[in-house]
Amino acid sequence: MTKIGIIRCEKNEKNCPLTGCITCLGQQTQGFDSYDKTRLAGVFTCRCDMDDAANMAKILKAKGVEAIHVPTCLFANKTDGKWTLKGGGLCDRLETLTDRIRAASGLPCVQGTAHLPEGYVPEI
Ligand code: SF4
Repeated sequence: MTKIGIIRCEKNEKNCPLTGCITCLGQQTQGFDSYDKTRLAGVFTCRCDMDDAANMAKILKAKGVEAIHVPTCLFANKTDGKWTLKGGGLCDRLETLTDRIRAASGLPCVQGTAHLPEGYVPEI
């Protein structure tokens, strides 16, 4: 059983209740298909402050989280009904964000949760 934490983006917090993320996490599909069993152990919302994000990562680790994922909507967008990497997503500092999360927590930080764009394979 791998305990997963998600750090989502504030830009989407009033539009999406993480339905796809949580469904895929529970079914070990899409961004979670490398795990045998998973449990959602916590969710934080990033508000574009990298120090806060680093602190959130530390707290997730202290709560027992073993891997942190950032949602697909941070780097992809839905165009004509399909999720695509072209045009990017909600976060314009994604690499900085995920690097800070990894450095602060020592945990893997995976880019991707639900509805992965065609051909995109998350690095674990
Ligand atoms: S990846 Fe999809 S399901 Fe998850 S928060 Fe973004 S829009 Fe919602």
